Amino acid sequence: METNGERIRRGRIEVICGSMFSGKTEELIRRLKRAKFARQSVEIFKPAIDTRYSEADVVSHEGNSIHSMPVESSYSILLLGSDTEVVGIDEAQFFDDNLVQVCNELANQGTRVIVAGLDLDFLGVPFGPIPALCAIADDVTKVHAICVKCGNQAYISHRTVSDNKRVLLGEQHEYEPLCRVCYLESIKKGQDKQTDNTPDQK
Ligand SMILES: [Zn+2]
Repeated sequence: METNGERIRRGRIEVICGSMFSGKTEELIRRLKRAKFARQSVEIFKPAIDTRYSEADVVSHEGNSIHSMPVESSYSILLLGSDTEVVGIDEAQFFDDNLVQVCNELANQGTRVIVAGLDLDFLGVPFGPIPALCAIADDVTKVHAICVKCGNQAYISHRTVSDNKRVLLGEQHEYEPLCRVCYLESIKKGQDKQTDNTPDQK
């Protein structure tokens, strides 16, 4: 479709989800770099909460980084990303639920929105706005880590330290990717340990 020789931009929503260590951010960076090569304007946003590496960079575990902007709320993405052809959003699980509406509006305006985030929290519960984003997305890619116990495809990021706070930002030593079988086994072991030892402090 052309008007005045200019191609009409087609907005869409792409979701890249999976457990930790599954390569979500690498895949996000790969797609954004391709868009840059195609001379499209690209902006990347991440929740201001994620300060694991550097303040202003999306940094993946492979050390492959791309410049990004930390924002406090999803509405900032709508304000700051409206004139951009391709908007990337990393660690999207930590954003508020309005992210769903924000992505929809950007896509309706003709922006290609690529969202990367954890599909499940460490208890196996769908995480933040990710499930709703998967539902409205034009395209969903689920990436997988490898279970550290058996080598099968992992489905969850199991927390190896005892802390029940949902938003605990991942350092490699605090989480391990596990398959369903190994996850259930380690939960069972953890419960057995608790009943063997002193009563639960909670
Ligand atoms: Zn396993």
